[in-house]
Amino acid sequence: MTATGGRSFTTLLNRSAAEHGHLCPGQIIGVRMALLGLKLIGLENPDELHQLKKLIVFVEMDRCAADAVQTVTNCRLGRRSLKYRDYGIMAATFVNLATSKAVRVVAREDSRELAA
Ligand SMILES: [Zn+2]
Repeated sequence: MTATGGRSFTTLLNRSAAEHGHLCPGQIIGVRMALLGLKLIGLENPDELHQLKKLIVFVEMDRCAADAVQTVTNCRLGRRSLKYRDYGIMAATFVNLATSKAVRVVAREDSRELAA
């Protein structure tokens, strides 16, 4: 993962806070979760359409962090690339359809405090 350019942590956090409406711990957690998930399945740049087409994301929360995951992954409910499972858990699963690789990233209980 490159730390520079359009997909650095800071750039994505700014983009996410703008789309979500405010900067909050959920944005920091969500951006980190999504960056990790994308890295682990080998789709680090879903700004590129050929990567985005291989990506499906399941989110298990409908709070702030879900917006950040949406921003970072470019997956959308209305495009059927983002799926919502109402489990109330700060977790998201990232699926690479081309390789069938999937990872579930869960935020630890203390991550909200750390993010703040
Ligand atoms: Zn928020």
